[in-house]
Amino acid sequence: MQFKSKIDESKLQETHKMLQEILNFVDKISLLMFKKEILVTSLFRPKTDDSGVHALGRAADIRTVDYFTTKQITVLVFLINSMYVYDAPRLNYNVALYHRVEGNTWHIHIQVHDNTKIIW
Ligand SMILES: [Zn+2]
Repeated sequence: MQFKSKIDESKLQETHKMLQEILNFVDKISLLMFKKEILVTSLFRPKTDDSGVHALGRAADIRTVDYFTTKQITVLVFLINSMYVYDAPRLNYNVALYHRVEGNTWHIHIQVHDNTKIIW
């Protein structure tokens, strides 16, 4: 697993334990299937209007642009959401999203909740 920022890398241990587990899972799958480590571009972000769960240590962004093909992205997002449920009473929320926030590029956003767990 690689990090865009050294500061984020040093703070990984302070993030939610389930986020760490899922990042390790995605990294292993990516290495196994696509022969490349994931690149985490954003972990903790200061609290702002749009920082959301990043401010709480419950989210990570993974590079996709010039990194994964569309099929690879689809497979990664599908596998993560097949393995983990974000919060069972709120099934409209997913752990992994492929999205673009205004002013940013497309990326895989991973988020966890205290209720996030493996499905089986
Ligand atoms: Zn994000």
